[in-house]
Amino acid sequence: MFNLILFGPPGSGKGTQSEKLILKYGLKHLSTGDLLRSEIAQQTPLGLEARSFMDRGELVPDEVVIGMISSAIDNNSQSKGFLFDGFPRTPAQAEALDKLLEFKGAPVAAMLSLEVGEDELIKRLVKRGETSGRSDDTNEEIIRARLAEYHKKTAAVADHYKVFNKVVNIKGEGHIDEIFNSLCSEIDARM
Ligand code: ADP
Repeated sequence: MFNLILFGPPGSGKGTQSEKLILKYGLKHLSTGDLLRSEIAQQTPLGLEARSFMDRGELVPDEVVIGMISSAIDNNSQSKGFLFDGFPRTPAQAEALDKLLEFKGAPVAAMLSLEVGEDELIKRLVKRGETSGRSDDTNEEIIRARLAEYHKKTAAVADHYKVFNKVVNIKGEGHIDEIFNSLCSEIDARM
């Protein structure tokens, strides 16, 4: 099993690059944002709980997200590996993930961190809001709240994996294929 984390602030291109990476490497894409939106669409109790946090641009509580990821890992136990996107987003989530993967004997191989400047992030998210149908993309105040949550709670996740020498910084601005190629060379070097 080969497990990767794609890391970076909202709007850094994790979703776009994930689509390409899972095709090339045959990994199972686990995006907590997508999983949560699907729970909301199905109006499950978990979705109903998560929704109020997401609408405010805040993180959903750790227990909720960790439980959801744990089931997703169990439900895909035959997979070649996982590409985690939007998870872990807090140090507590990182510790929980490490435990879950340790149990599988397949720790995180690397955390690929997409680096994009704040102005560019806001520009991208506002633009995505014009077509994505995502309520958290349509309002600049909520976008700023999400970026603030990232700095306050999520940025520290990189420190967690730095200790294990697993963080790779990738320039996330420029052409999509160029960024994809940088990601692939880092992955190939670790496979
Ligand atoms: P983006 O990173 O572009 O903001 P996501 O689809 O990854 O979009 O996440 C959307 C929202 O879902 C977040 O703002 C947050 O409320 C919630 N969310 C997603 N992943 C997590 C997570 N790992 N922990 C807590 N909340 C999460």
